[in-house]
Amino acid sequence: MRTLIAANWKMFKTRAEAQQTARELIALMQDDWPAERDVVLFAPFTALAATAEAVAGSPVAVGAQDVYPAAEGAFTGEISPGMILDCGASWVIAGHSERRHILGESASFVGKKTAFALEAGLSVMLCIGETLEEREADKLEAVLRAQLEQAVRGLSADACLKGLAVAYEPVWAIGTGKVASEADILEAHAMVRNILGVILGSTAGSLPILYGGSVKPENASSILALDNVNGLLVGGASLRAESFSKIIRA
Ligand code: PEP
Repeated sequence: MRTLIAANWKMFKTRAEAQQTARELIALMQDDWPAERDVVLFAPFTALAATAEAVAGSPVAVGAQDVYPAAEGAFTGEISPGMILDCGASWVIAGHSERRHILGESASFVGKKTAFALEAGLSVMLCIGETLEEREADKLEAVLRAQLEQAVRGLSADACLKGLAVAYEPVWAIGTGKVASEADILEAHAMVRNILGVILGSTAGSLPILYGGSVKPENASSILALDNVNGLLVGGASLRAESFSKIIRA
């Protein structure tokens, strides 16, 4: 399976800053992209078109950080899959923990977004993960199962294979500098693969499962070497082209 290295720029970067970072990244890679690695930049909505323009002709894809599950309509402030595609982006994040926990998005709404975006032709990075409280209460597996059930049940094997990736991101490791231990990552990724297998059957073996949570150039290669880790979703360390380029090469 190919390895996917994704940058989540969150609510950072104007159009000019996004273009500059994207251009710097391409210059730093010097046309020497590691084989078997794909790269996606999840930019803010306002910088999607500018980022897509900056990476045109390179192997880098662009994605949005959220989507509304309707083609158009009276949904003030929201963005449809068609609008994202129109900006030159091909990916979208669904269910990032900051949206689940700060914006109050439910697992069922994340499921609707996932299904609608896939149907509309976007690839989807479905984010799941437990809070520290849930982990300490021994609810890791139950939380991952519930989040995956709501998002993935009902999707066709075809839709999943065309465009679904899952990112396991323990909430307590995002933006905190506390990376999960290798044992934690191995355990959670094996659980995710198993749960996907129960829901989707053999398709599960072909879906990329990424780890996210305080990934840095220093820890990227050891995390990527773990079983069932097929890529990385990187927040803070993706904001500077130099550190993100090191993670792409890790
Ligand atoms: C993220 O935003 O998905 C993330 C993992 O952030 P960070 O790498 O900063 O922990």
